[in-house]
Amino acid sequence: MKTVLPGAKIGVLGSGQLGRMFAIAARRMGYRVHTYSPDRDSPTGQIADVEIDAPYEDLDRVREFASSVDVVTFEFENVPGATAEAASECALVRPAGTVLHITQHRLREKTFLRDHGFPVTRFEPVRTAADLRRVMPGFGAAILKTAGFGYDGKGQYRVRTLAEAEKAWAAMGGQEAVLEAVVDFEAELSVVGVRSADGECAFFEPFRNAHVNGILDVTTSPAPFDRGITQRAHELARAALEALNVTGVLCVEFFLGRDRELLINELAPRPHNSGHLTIDACITSQFEQQLRAVCGLPLGSTLMLRPAAMANLLGDLWNDSEPDWAAACSLPQVKLHLYGKSDPRPGRKMGHLTATADAPESAERIVRAARAMLVSEHGAGRLMPPSATARR
Ligand code: AMP
Repeated sequence: MKTVLPGAKIGVLGSGQLGRMFAIAARRMGYRVHTYSPDRDSPTGQIADVEIDAPYEDLDRVREFASSVDVVTFEFENVPGATAEAASECALVRPAGTVLHITQHRLREKTFLRDHGFPVTRFEPVRTAADLRRVMPGFGAAILKTAGFGYDGKGQYRVRTLAEAEKAWAAMGGQEAVLEAVVDFEAELSVVGVRSADGECAFFEPFRNAHVNGILDVTTSPAPFDRGITQRAHELARAALEALNVTGVLCVEFFLGRDRELLINELAPRPHNSGHLTIDACITSQFEQQLRAVCGLPLGSTLMLRPAAMANLLGDLWNDSEPDWAAACSLPQVKLHLYGKSDPRPGRKMGHLTATADAPESAERIVRAARAMLVSEHGAGRLMPPSATARR
């Protein structure tokens, strides 16, 4: 097993906020960080030692980038497969490109999970208009989702009738899709797990997630679920890490049904938005766990020191002027995280707030209050509901 020690260079494919928080963890432990993406002055690039701004399709540049570092990881799963492949010719890539290949495509991911016996929502592939006509009558309320490049509720349409489904599919440009039953869930939760190169696993306590318009809004932990549900969620996360042979972090998003059964909604082979509160609330953050796993170091403790809640800050908060950061910082239990993005578009994740408290409910109350305080009384930064058009 290769160990990459502090002082070494880590290559990150992708340059958003996940890479930024990873880079902060890596720099803190004495690593050098190089990032590669088509963007300049990116959230990750602002923290990294080296920022390469080039297309993912420029495979010679990708090979050159990989040759200049000791290990390569990625910060989001929509990096093209050929890019990960080219990087792996010149450097160790963790997790492996096969993990990316499965998880970047809803249909492949759901089929993989179903074939390996994981509980998933009932779904059918839609590749042609005839497929849609054949499968739609078997569903009542359903969700049509694009098979590729979807996240945060992007490329999703709720449909009830064949006519609605046909209209939604046409709006997607007739691309490959997944038709999925709507789950009447009691709660949404996620587990962030990590697996080291020698197969050791560690898990954070489940996070309870509240979404608005398909975008994560608030996460609270510990979640108010009984031990049986937590154990089952951890078992499923461990089985997914092993089935995919992940070296690194994997987030498993679940629906908790009214029958108390867990269904897997989605996998993300990387730190996840719902795990951001681990930075302020746990001994080891999800980003440090990713670092330790990809570098072959022993994993850290996932113990939560204080109950916590996280609220996302979307571009909607700006509404012509800067939110009132000082107001949120006036609450001493609140931590402000901004991602260095200069263009606050509606639905774009610009930052987050974390509050810690004696109980998760108090942390949630404080973090929601802090977010509301960002809105000045002079009308600037009015709090708007998150837009349906999600952006990372
Ligand atoms: P996704 O991008 O698939 O994770 O979906 C984003 C959010 O949309 C989820 O976190 C849920 O809140 C909602 N959602 C997605 N799929 C379903 C489903 N089959 N039933 C009910 N809600 C869903």
